[in-house]
Amino acid sequence: MEEPRFIADVMLGKLAKWLRMLGYDTLYFRETKDDLLVACAVREKRQLLTRKTQLRQRHDIQDYLYFISDNDPLKQLGAVIAHYQLTIMPPAAFTRCLICNQRLKEIGPEQIRSRLPDYVITTQKHFSTCSRCKRIFWRGTHYENMKKALTRIP
Ligand SMILES: [Zn+2]
Repeated sequence: MEEPRFIADVMLGKLAKWLRMLGYDTLYFRETKDDLLVACAVREKRQLLTRKTQLRQRHDIQDYLYFISDNDPLKQLGAVIAHYQLTIMPPAAFTRCLICNQRLKEIGPEQIRSRLPDYVITTQKHFSTCSRCKRIFWRGTHYENMKKALTRIP
């Protein structure tokens, strides 16, 4: 099966970030109107992740809808991984901007030296940047924490 792309409804912001962190193309849909959400999923051929019970009851969209029943973002992620048979730590993990869903580009420390504190430049080797929001990412403590959290997924 081709790797699924996702669209997460307004209640699933944290789940969307987790999926992006694992490298999965995931739109986070802030609008609350169901019709817009569904139209976007159809147009972009995305799997619709939702907590809305009224969408769960719509028969026309069940082929590409996955209803999320849990409140906890990590449990939600575990459910999505199981349902779509995703890899927990795929090669693409940590290559996507958590904020914009853009693919990150590797960047050399010399290009960003002026934008980061010295301790980051001296302790980190690999940096990447998002072409849209220009944020710089590196694999610091939050990366280790996220990796640890992922091991708790059943
Ligand atoms: Zn970004």
